[in-house]
Amino acid sequence: MSIGDERSPIKAVGAQTFEPGDVDARRVALDVLSNEIAVCRRCPRLVVWREQVAVDKRAAFKDEEYWGRPLPGFGDPEARVLLVGLAPAAHGGNRTGRVFTGDRSGDWLFAALWRTGFANQPESVALDDGLVLSDAYVVAAVRCAPPDNKPTTTERDACVPFLRRELSLLADVRVVVALGQFAHQIVAVELGMKPRPAFGHGAEAVAPDGTVLLSSYHPSQRNTFTGTLTEPMFDSVLRRARQLAEGEARANPKQGKGK
Ligand code: SF4
Repeated sequence: MSIGDERSPIKAVGAQTFEPGDVDARRVALDVLSNEIAVCRRCPRLVVWREQVAVDKRAAFKDEEYWGRPLPGFGDPEARVLLVGLAPAAHGGNRTGRVFTGDRSGDWLFAALWRTGFANQPESVALDDGLVLSDAYVVAAVRCAPPDNKPTTTERDACVPFLRRELSLLADVRVVVALGQFAHQIVAVELGMKPRPAFGHGAEAVAPDGTVLLSSYHPSQRNTFTGTLTEPMFDSVLRRARQLAEGEARANPKQGKGK
């Protein structure tokens, strides 16, 4: 199924609901899903690529053992803000085993999350670096590092069900921050938004279930090196996400959500 096809809103597809405060059950379900993601081999081209990169390595990391597998999401099971990126970097997440960890985009993202109160530290370099997110959860729309950062349509569609299930399990999410147009299009479809809202930095649109889609330029080196995305611009979007999660988004609460 392509991104332009008709689909049911994400919450209606295999939705798993939890009682308010049933965080332990949610955490267990997310762990089960994460374990399932980490062993996925659905996309032959990406399996070959991620594993070959893990063998070849970049010279600067030649003594490290690469993860070389898909990346589950990371963050607070009670998050009200979900951030969705594109795909892991070959020598970033594909090396460290955590989304956006160990590459320049991640440096930008987690520093901004720290400045805006969603992270306990500005650095994200390794699985055991002590990073903790609060009220935020981070995922990649495609879980395996793709050649040239470009997954195919088939690979994208093969991976979207993982996002669908994560969204179902992250029952407190009020705001989805799409990092880049690729994520924006996927999230808009999954949230059942018709017509699909236009992408733009800081653009907002409300899905039928009340979730707010808030878009941002991706913190890629291309955008940050050229000044297309600046720290104030990025912080502004994250502060707006918190504002929406705490205030305006509650004006249209989802049924059965606890926070
Ligand atoms: Fe599986 Fe997604 Fe990786 Fe494809 S991109 S192999 S669906 S985890």
